[in-house]
Order: sequence, then structure tokens, then C-alpha cells
Amino acid sequence: MHAMAMNELLGLADIYLAARRAHLDRGGDPIRWKLAFGLPCHRQTATLARFLVMRAPPAFRDRAVPVIGDNPIGQGIQALERYLAVASDWRPRLYPDPPPHLWCDDTGAVLGVRGWRLTNGPKRGPRLTALGSRTEWPRGVMDARCRLPYGVRHRPAGSNCVCGIYAFKTAGLAAELLEIDPPVVGVVRAWGRVAVHRVGWRAERAQPLWLAAAVPPETARQLGSRYECDVVAVETTEDALVATATYEKEIQRWPG
Ligand SMILES: [Zn+2]
Repeated sequence: MHAMAMNELLGLADIYLAARRAHLDRGGDPIRWKLAFGLPCHRQTATLARFLVMRAPPAFRDRAVPVIGDNPIGQGIQALERYLAVASDWRPRLYPDPPPHLWCDDTGAVLGVRGWRLTNGPKRGPRLTALGSRTEWPRGVMDARCRLPYGVRHRPAGSNCVCGIYAFKTAGLAAELLEIDPPVVGVVRAWGRVAVHRVGWRAERAQPLWLAAAVPPETARQLGSRYECDVVAVETTEDALVATATYEKEIQRWPG
């Protein structure tokens, strides 16, 4: 399950259980509690919430203890309603189409498409920087790090976590799903531990293989020499995505 959903569900399950404890500790009537959660779906979810808290993976053990106010039953019901809503959002679904195949090169490395923004320090030249964070990509191989606290962090990309280097499986999916227009789009190869999702993957290690950048030709040349790969200078992000789709077709035709 997605770690963020897990975090939210565990928090809500905690509130529900704390509300029950508070109700009974104050001499509350167990029958009244049972009546409040009498609907079959509530009863079943209450059991699931208890089970989820008991079986939480180690990464989620340090949770804050919720404070329960004057109306434990009300708070319990609220937490459970929210729990039901989040849980149904994250229930496995049936998708109408099979997911696209993973695209690999002849060394077995998985290939994917992603975008970057550019950062530019004085005298440093252009650097590829992740879209959602300030992480700058080094020359050579990018190693993922898990950001969970020391002691529970693990080798990326963990199955109960969100760590790893992200990429879309194909240029088509990137064109459809990239939410911002990054100046650089390109193909990365990845290896190590790889968690495969429906539209993309998360990997332990990755390296740019080919880039299309909406930058002046001189900047493209600097990028190419820093990241040791071919860089094509284009006009816009849209052009970069089209160029990436063409490149994708070519290397599928001429593997290696
Ligand atoms: Zn992790």
C-alpha cells in the first residue's frame, strides 16, 4: 500500500481506538459504544482498524498518540468515516487495460522517461535538478536514499515506502501525465532494486541516457559533457517530449 495512505489510515485507526479506550475509561457503556458502531460496515472497519494498528510495519511505529476530547463516540465515528473514505480510495482496482510493458536495454537495465528542471550556480554550469525536490543530479550515477528515520530506513526502493528515483515507463505516459512543463526531458536507465508501478517505476540507481532540452545549444553541450550523454537542443517541452518518443522508437528498433 502507498506509504502516505498507510500513514493516514494508521492515524485514523489510532484515533478510533483511543476514542474507544477513552469512552470505556470514563465508565462509558460498552453497549452504547456497540450501538454507535452497529452498522455492519462500521463493525467490520473497526476490526480492520484494530488489525492495521497491531500489524503496522516498523516504519510506522512512532506515531503521535491522539488526544480525545469530551465526545469520544463522536470522534470515533468521525475517524471511522474518514478511514472508510481513505481506505476505499486506496483499494486495489481493476484497470481496463493491461499496464504497459517495462522497457529494458540489452544489459537488463530498465528504461524510463522523466523530466528535470535546471539549476545554474555561478561558474558551475547547468545541473539537472529533480522536479519535486531540490535534489541535484550528480555526474554519473544517481543513488536514491530512503528518508525514513535512522533505524527504519532501508535499501531503496522499498515496497512499503515512497523512496527511489522515479520515472514513467514510456514517453507517451510522460507526455500525458507530467504536470509541469520541465525544460529537460529524457531517458534514464535504472538498476538495483526497482519497484514497478502502473505508469512508472522507482529505482535504487539511475543514470541519464539521452536528453532533450529546451535550452540554447551551448547549454545543451555543457549538459552533455557533464552527464556524459547525448543532449538534443529543442525549442519547447512539447518538442522535447516528441523527440523523446522518437528516440524511444529508434532504440526499440536497434537495441543496444
Ligand atoms: Zn524508503
